Amino acid sequence: MRPDESRAFMKAFTASCPRNDRQSRADADCQYRLPWLRCGRSERDWRALGRVPPINPSPWIESDVWYPAYTLDLRANPTKFSDECAVTLPELNAMRKLIVGRDAKKAMLLPGSRIGPVRAKLPKRATDFVWCSFSLMASRRVIQLLTRSGLSIPYGPVVTPTGEKTDYVALQLDPVPLYSKATIAKMTLAVCPECGNCWMQDVRVDISGPRQYDRSRMPEEAGLVRVREGLEILATDRFIDVIQSNKLSGVGFEVFGEYV
Ligand SMILES: [Zn+2]
Repeated sequence: MRPDESRAFMKAFTASCPRNDRQSRADADCQYRLPWLRCGRSERDWRALGRVPPINPSPWIESDVWYPAYTLDLRANPTKFSDECAVTLPELNAMRKLIVGRDAKKAMLLPGSRIGPVRAKLPKRATDFVWCSFSLMASRRVIQLLTRSGLSIPYGPVVTPTGEKTDYVALQLDPVPLYSKATIAKMTLAVCPECGNCWMQDVRVDISGPRQYDRSRMPEEAGLVRVREGLEILATDRFIDVIQSNKLSGVGFEVFGEYV
């Protein structure tokens, strides 16, 4: 071993949808959704940058995450779980407590997150992985192969638009803050100390070049990890190995950064 080999950076791969492959994309949605969040602090910081709050009825940045393995507590009023409104942080926290499932208390449950079983119109010859923008479904065969390799990703059911069973499940990837301090600075990311909203202060800054991820925060056994600060999904070497050695379709990998 060369003396500097142990310090060589480790490549970080992202998993993404193959381009121009209609069989690996679908329209899908969950039954419930957390509302958007009104945060005075976030809104003041936004306006100080000369911006008006974006598309949502609050300055919250859309992160497009779903929690198909979770559902609502029986005491919850399902009509309140909709993205057509914005609530205060105490109201959101009370609603978060009504979301049940394994480790739901520890989950990020960001404003606008989709909750519950997924309804999807799957393509006719669906690939092993099927994407709904940044959320991911997989065939049951994928789950078996991952489990056999010691990788565990929580998942929930996928039914057709008319409620019939499918051979697919929806993967639940709770976001993990992974950017290094250098990448946070380079991308001019700000995080609201009150609600955790995360946005780029200067949207014109050059964000090309490899991103740095903090290896100590990377949950290796998950296989796939959604990055909190961005929209990318990281794939571990073991996950990539399972996919490639079994020739599973509907997912591609590329180097997007490095672990530091
Ligand atoms: Zn805030």
